[in-house]
Amino acid sequence: ILTVNNLTKKFKRIAVNNISFDVEKGNVYGLLGPNGSGKSTTFGMLLSTINPTSGSWTWFGKAGTNTTTLKNIGAIIEQPNFYPYLNAEKNLKIVAQIKGTNYQRIDEVLETVGLLARKNDKFSTYSLGMKQRLSIASALLNNPEVLILDEPTNGLDPEGIIQIREIIQDIAKKGITIIIASHLLDEIEKICSHVIVLKEGTAIYSGTVDGMTSSKGYFELKADQQDEL
Ligand code: ATP
Ligand code: MG
Repeated sequence: ILTVNNLTKKFKRIAVNNISFDVEKGNVYGLLGPNGSGKSTTFGMLLSTINPTSGSWTWFGKAGTNTTTLKNIGAIIEQPNFYPYLNAEKNLKIVAQIKGTNYQRIDEVLETVGLLARKNDKFSTYSLGMKQRLSIASALLNNPEVLILDEPTNGLDPEGIIQIREIIQDIAKKGITIIIASHLLDEIEKICSHVIVLKEGTAIYSGTVDGMTSSKGYFELKADQQDEL
């Protein structure tokens, strides 16, 4: 589905350093690394919102910047702007209009994220976790083959985190390929089959989650996480 070749982004300093990895259909991938390791910059390049310094990638076998293929991707890299005084259903209708998809899937995606019963509630009355789940619903509206999520559980309480993780697992069961950025090793271990570990922009491990736990990268990452505490 996705092939990344020697992708590099340099701002003042190197943010993403020559990373390469493949994403295959139906798996759940983690992009794991501490703050500032280059996760969001990587997603930005793959979604054509950030210009790479060098390197290339393909989505579905075509040049990564191809706008037609980008339509097969659902992504949340920042909180979408929903209208606070409109209910969830109306907000999704607006997103559907913008994306050029019909309204038929609205109930289905609300069901997927557990918000169907709350679709008539105003967005402003939603908890942070519900807002995040509505974001996932909006990303699913156009029935994407791939879902990209940048730190979807950030700021949520333990209950909210569990809900989002279960939803991600449900979506994966439907055969949608998922790529999720996180700085939490524990989160990646719980929901991903594969992982790319970033350290200061460099991929220090790329492979199965099972393989990682016996690799050097795992321990380097643990050390990083200790630094953060
Ligand atoms: P976090 O966990 O905090 O979201 P991240 O892994 O997503 O971090 P990035 O946001 O990709 O990390 O940042 C990687 C590096 O690139 C950091 O050093 C950051 O300061 C730098 N960076 C990101 N965006 C820009 C920008 N627009 N201009 C300059 N430097 C940037
Ligand atoms: Mg980030």
